[in-house]
Amino acid sequence: MDILERFKKYISFDTTSNEESKTIPSTKSQYEFAKILVNDLIEIGLTNAYVDEYGYVYGYINCNQEKTIGLIAHMDTSSDFKGGCKNTQLVKNYNGQEIILKNGDKLNKELFPALNEVIGDDLLFTDGEHLLGGDDKAGIVIIFEIVKHALANLKSMKYNLSICFTVDEEIGRGPLKFDINKMHSDFAFTLDGGSIYEANIENFNASSAKVNFYGINVHPGSAKGIMVNSILASMYFNSLLPSKMIPSLTEGHEGFIHLHDIEGDVSQTKLSYILRDHDEKLLEEKKNMLVEAKNKTLKEFPNIKIDLEIKDEYKNMFPYFLKHREAVELINKTYLFSNTKISYTPIRGGTDGATITYMGLPCPNLGVGDFNCHGKFEFVSLTQMQKMVEILKKLVEL
Ligand SMILES: [Zn+2]
Repeated sequence: MDILERFKKYISFDTTSNEESKTIPSTKSQYEFAKILVNDLIEIGLTNAYVDEYGYVYGYINCNQEKTIGLIAHMDTSSDFKGGCKNTQLVKNYNGQEIILKNGDKLNKELFPALNEVIGDDLLFTDGEHLLGGDDKAGIVIIFEIVKHALANLKSMKYNLSICFTVDEEIGRGPLKFDINKMHSDFAFTLDGGSIYEANIENFNASSAKVNFYGINVHPGSAKGIMVNSILASMYFNSLLPSKMIPSLTEGHEGFIHLHDIEGDVSQTKLSYILRDHDEKLLEEKKNMLVEAKNKTLKEFPNIKIDLEIKDEYKNMFPYFLKHREAVELINKTYLFSNTKISYTPIRGGTDGATITYMGLPCPNLGVGDFNCHGKFEFVSLTQMQKMVEILKKLVEL
């Protein structure tokens, strides 16, 4: 089965994860899909492949080497759009033209600049009614090719190969039941995301904050000297934060304080924030800004009560890689030997790899050639997917 055939087979399954669900995996369809992946792995010769009770698929190829490399991809797709695309559109040797999806929607380079990066490539588009599911079934298909390669070339492998297909990445629960003992790896790579010419070893440090303002509500006609309006106090509080430190005005390594939810009336108002920064110290500064704003608000509204609760969510994996260079050096060496440029872009969010890294398994992310994910305008470059297979074949033999 070639890359395109396998990819079309896997994206035809709807494996949307579901945040509301309490089960692991969050949807039955992921477990059903995991069983199909195991069958297919066994069919290509990886006879020890299995799915565990949580839907995670594992497999191991012993090449009699000292070290083991892990490859990881997730099988769920985002609930932002319908999964299970069966009616794809293949465009060979893309020449930069406008693409008309089967439902009439249009993609062009003005609206989707990513198309500029894939001129000359073979591309696969959706039917306009579903997301494509290249996030992250492109990663799964690439890993299948490396498994085939490893089994056929046991003697030239410089590492043993361990693989895992995880569940529920899109709802932030990918690492929840991920078992590093089942991986037996020295380091690993998640294959997930955009261009294969970009890798990620940096992500945000993340915290969240809930600020509760408790006021006093009485009849407005006789409120003088008594009423304490928690809405006004919360507005004052927010006005004390730097107005330009917000998602819509920041990029690259710039962090932000993002007010994402507000609920309230006179007697009680709740503000919910997320705080993000690649630099741990700058994240601490942002937390302190909230504390200072609280203190100033208490001065301005003496009878208000404010509860400020700050929680840490996840950490930037970059400091870890400063001490554990092996995985990053192997990426650099592989791209150099493949005569291919690689750049490292900071992720403005989290990644399963970051959590897995802090579990003790260093785990940078590599691209798979998937673009505009989580919606009907998603597409993959089959050319980039094929190229990533060639790059990884080199990686396991260096
Ligand atoms: Zn993904």
